[in-house]
Amino acid sequence: MPSSNHDQAQRLAQFPDAMLAWYDNEKRSLPWRENPTPYRVWISEIMLQQTRVEAVIGYYERFLSALPDIHALAQAPQEQLMKLWEGLGYYTRARNLQKAAQVMDQQYAGQFPSTYDEIRALPGIGDYTAGAIASIAFSLKHPAVDGNVLRVMTRLTADGGDISKPATKQRISSLLTGLLPDRVGDFNQSLMELGATVCIPNGAPACLICPVREYCLGFSQGSPEDYPVKPKKKARTVEEHTVFLLDAGGRLALSKRPERGLLAGMWELPNVPGCLSQEAAEQWVVTQGFSHAQVCRLRSCRHIFTHVEWHMSVYAAQVSQEAGSFFWAGRQALHDSVSLPSAFRPALAQWEPRNQS
Ligand code: SF4
Repeated sequence: MPSSNHDQAQRLAQFPDAMLAWYDNEKRSLPWRENPTPYRVWISEIMLQQTRVEAVIGYYERFLSALPDIHALAQAPQEQLMKLWEGLGYYTRARNLQKAAQVMDQQYAGQFPSTYDEIRALPGIGDYTAGAIASIAFSLKHPAVDGNVLRVMTRLTADGGDISKPATKQRISSLLTGLLPDRVGDFNQSLMELGATVCIPNGAPACLICPVREYCLGFSQGSPEDYPVKPKKKARTVEEHTVFLLDAGGRLALSKRPERGLLAGMWELPNVPGCLSQEAAEQWVVTQGFSHAQVCRLRSCRHIFTHVEWHMSVYAAQVSQEAGSFFWAGRQALHDSVSLPSAFRPALAQWEPRNQS
């Protein structure tokens, strides 16, 4: 059992200073750390959920130059927003960003609210993101407990609680609340940074170069990797789909996904459940209103989402005219303005337009 938060807080009294000294020397130079306005911090924190820092940097810079402030984001056409987000995945994040920007545009005159509770009430902002914005952009004394911070703190305190349980997160959160220094934004970022670069998730933590090793119970007990304790992962569901590249003179058929569920409201390549044989695929094309279609099988693809894995059979069909209830897009439109989720990209990469348009 972990010792009480009171004991831990006493034991860790000098820990924030050690973290800040390390952070001042070792922090990575990242675009959102320069000029950390609430808007810039917010966009970076939302992008960094589920996505690696290296992958985010390019997206972040493009997003900020296209939509430099809350008002621009609130007014942005959906297609532009989705295009800027294309490849980052978890598109609900982008939709919630815009919803929150619209709330701020209408209720806060296009400014970020400056209290934790108001920030936390915005669409798509949970405890962690609210804590990060409040502390980094407004110097409000709130902890920001994400996966990195949970890992560092459970190792540091040898807390064997299951980190998926609210009680564990609550315990770490209240311990941190009692430790927050005046430089709260830097302290929160130092914990995230340590978790990302030293007390890493996969493989052994780099305890020998860790600036807070002397405070770490996981290290002194010889078993830092026992923490954090996680619930057993459920196996992903496998779904079979058959995906079609329907080409009419160099333009490709797209359809919209339903407004709810996985990839809600996104464009997709036409597809049906199951793994269709060549004959069944040819029949499907005919039922869509196309005659004289040449159908050929291409390389199968896979895409892994958090809880589900798609196994996709892919067919290309040259059709004689644009028909059916599809939206038709040429290569240029697919590149410039239409946002197609990554799941369909390997299939799309096999497309050879009959006549470029
Ligand atoms: Fe993590 Fe090791 Fe540092 Fe403890 S000593 S906080 S386990 S890197």
